[in-house]
Amino acid sequence: MQTGILCCSPETPLCEAAERMAQRRFSSILVIQDNQPVGIWTERDALAVDFSTLEAVRIPISQVMSHPVQCLPATATVGEAAIQFSARGMRHFLITDAQGSPVGILSQTDVALNQGLEPYLRLREVHSAMRHGPLVLASDQLLSDATAQMRRTHRDAAVVAYPDETLGILTERDMVRFVAHHPGNTPIGELASQPLLTIGTHDLLIRARDKLLDHRVRHLAVRDSADQVVGLLGFGDMLAGAEQHHLKDLRAALEQRDRALAQSRQNLQLAERVIESSLEGIIITDAQSRIEFTNPAFTYLTGYSREEVLGRTPQVLSSGRHDKAFYDRMWETLQANGYWRGEIWNRRKSGELYLELLTITAIRDERGSISNYAGLFTDITHIRENEEQVKQLAYYDPLTRLPNRRLLEDRLSLAIRHAHRNEQFLAVLFLDLDHFKQVNDTLGHAIGDELLLLVTERLRASLREDDTLARLGGDEFIALLPDLEDISEVSQVARRLIDAISAPCRIGSHEFRVGCSVGISVYPDDATDAEALVRSADAAMYRAKQEGRNTYRLYTMEMDVQSHNVLALETALRNAVDSGDGLEMHYQPLIDRDTGKLHSAEALLRWHHPERGIISPAEFIPLAERSGLIVPLGERILDLVCRQLRDWQRCGAEPVPVAVNLSTRQFWQDGLLAFIEATLADYGLDPGLLGFELTESTLIDKEGRARQTLEALRTLGCHIAIDDFGTGYSALSYLQELPVSVLKIDRSFIQALSTESRQGGAILAAVSGLARELGLKVVAEGVETEGQRQALAQYQVDLLQGYLTGRPVNAETFLQQHLNLAEARAPRV
Ligand code: C2E
Ligand code: CA
Ligand code: CA
Repeated sequence: MQTGILCCSPETPLCEAAERMAQRRFSSILVIQDNQPVGIWTERDALAVDFSTLEAVRIPISQVMSHPVQCLPATATVGEAAIQFSARGMRHFLITDAQGSPVGILSQTDVALNQGLEPYLRLREVHSAMRHGPLVLASDQLLSDATAQMRRTHRDAAVVAYPDETLGILTERDMVRFVAHHPGNTPIGELASQPLLTIGTHDLLIRARDKLLDHRVRHLAVRDSADQVVGLLGFGDMLAGAEQHHLKDLRAALEQRDRALAQSRQNLQLAERVIESSLEGIIITDAQSRIEFTNPAFTYLTGYSREEVLGRTPQVLSSGRHDKAFYDRMWETLQANGYWRGEIWNRRKSGELYLELLTITAIRDERGSISNYAGLFTDITHIRENEEQVKQLAYYDPLTRLPNRRLLEDRLSLAIRHAHRNEQFLAVLFLDLDHFKQVNDTLGHAIGDELLLLVTERLRASLREDDTLARLGGDEFIALLPDLEDISEVSQVARRLIDAISAPCRIGSHEFRVGCSVGISVYPDDATDAEALVRSADAAMYRAKQEGRNTYRLYTMEMDVQSHNVLALETALRNAVDSGDGLEMHYQPLIDRDTGKLHSAEALLRWHHPERGIISPAEFIPLAERSGLIVPLGERILDLVCRQLRDWQRCGAEPVPVAVNLSTRQFWQDGLLAFIEATLADYGLDPGLLGFELTESTLIDKEGRARQTLEALRTLGCHIAIDDFGTGYSALSYLQELPVSVLKIDRSFIQALSTESRQGGAILAAVSGLARELGLKVVAEGVETEGQRQALAQYQVDLLQGYLTGRPVNAETFLQQHLNLAEARAPRV
């Protein structure tokens, strides 16, 4: 701004004020009253003066000044001022201090000249700043007309054309002079300045500026290439474009700054939120390791609040587990690399040790020296524990902590290599407890587990230190005896192990004995790789079980043959299930004890093996269970039975309900219900014609789920019978809760009747009595003799099933014997 301010009082005659302006080449004068600016008069206002009378210049300035005075505070930035000029359409602002006193005048030109315009002026040519053609006035025009025309057309200068084609110029500034010394309303030809300074349209603006400054004038005439005057160029024009241009830059810069500010504010907030909600503990210290900041996770993990640790060093967390060398190394790395990462044991406020994974980063200031350290850590104690556990699980049996099959195979392979090098024997003993399942079923799993631990202890005590004892799962153990000099040692060890196990066991209040069967295989005689050795020992153990239990057997080649036979049988069964060849259902009648009438039938599967003839289901059903074949086989059976029922209906016989046996795996298979429903629907059968037999052991342990399935079957309309009742361990009260309608008492109890065993009778009496009370129908299975039938008369038995009242026969025979002929409904005794 210009700090010099021209001032006058409101009464000052206009000509006097203009005189002062002209002398000092000021473009404005401030009107002051009582030390307060009350108005301003500028060059521009000179155009408003009516030069036709002399009086016009003698009036007091207060009558023509502009007011109020537009002010800007001295603290406003040049950028803000530029915006105000353009927004308010002003050319001057009075600059005031904090008390409102005038300190200077700011013109648009001042702003433009102080904004570093040179680069802009150097880049642009004169024509780019030209806004319009020149106002050309004839030299004989009177001053009053000329000013009025300039004012009307908003020009601050005009070209004056003389009859001899020379040119002059008349400007606002000239008018101020005329106001000061009124020349009279004369033709402007006498007043204009000559010669007219010119510049080419293609000259650079910077040249134009220099010419203006050099000649201390404010306008140049612009000539085109044909030397024609095409316009006037003043500071205003030059700066107007520049200002606008500059303003745009300024605005863009401001917007960019705002955006950057908003962005960094957002980033800061985000960072704050991340730090606050991070699950990682965060500590920030100063360069001397004094804690300046911690986040909530720090407090959660260490137990220390922020206030408790502020100003202290992270040593408060030290566990004392690491030596000085550890911390020295940590600091060394931190200084050298700028960060350190590692696992470190620390101590919580509670005193509890924990393992943390810690990353420390050195933070440097602008000068590159360390200003802070940031530590990020997570508690990995549980991860480490899990890793240990996983390792344990992968190689050790969780109950006995003995090596599992995997570790055994590793050790066995190692031992084989060792034996090979030293030309020694090694033996694998496969141990299986006898009747372990019974202990588990009758006394419960907890006692079963205790027993396994006791057995482990006894086996360990009977083995050498170098021997490996492993548990394969269930009640199967393996003892690996390496470095044998003499093969005869092995049988002695086996005997010792058997004796140790069969000593009486006392667990809690229970006292009992268990036996064990041992199979032995020897390297290199029986097999040369780990897997085959275990397999051979398994086969030998199986033989020991078959041949009396509580004994041991050495592996022989012939055992392979046996397992080969099992495989061959499985293959044949698979073929039969796939094709249906050789599978047939037989039906055995169940007879009402009191009326002797046919009540229902049980469907029993028959398999005609291509070479071996008929094979008992007692042999192949367990095989089908083990191999998974039971599922497709079961579906075939159900289909055969339902088809049979429909065929009987079609040929006019009135079928009785038929019960189908469901083995465990069958019962628990997914989609059983859907399959039953679909099959019944396929053959258009009343579900009441179909029943199912399940053994107690199938239902045991999973009552909840069993009940669901049984409930669904009953809702469907099918009857459920409990098969072979009395051979399992379930209590009758348990049956009460299941939706079953028939109880089939196992054959063994019926057989016991004839041997005059009183115990058999007692059980029969108790079971049948209770069953009745529960509303169940009671079936006596395996009734073979007339004597048995008579003995049964005194018990609450509803139905009889056995060779006496009818053997299982094929469908055709069953139709003839039991369904077709009315009199055949009575049993043929
Ligand atoms: P289970 O369900 O207890 O079937 C009764 C068994 O006793 C049948 O043997 C039957 O022939 C036999 N039996 C009937 N009356 C007498 C008798 O008076 N004295 C003697 N000693 N035995 C008699 P089978 O047919 O050999 O079946 C054996 C087992 O195979 C069945 O025992 C059953 O558990 C299973 N089974 C048979 N057919 C099927 C089937 O279609 N599906 C399923 N999952 N298992 C079946
Ligand atoms: Ca049955
Ligand atoms: Ca049975």
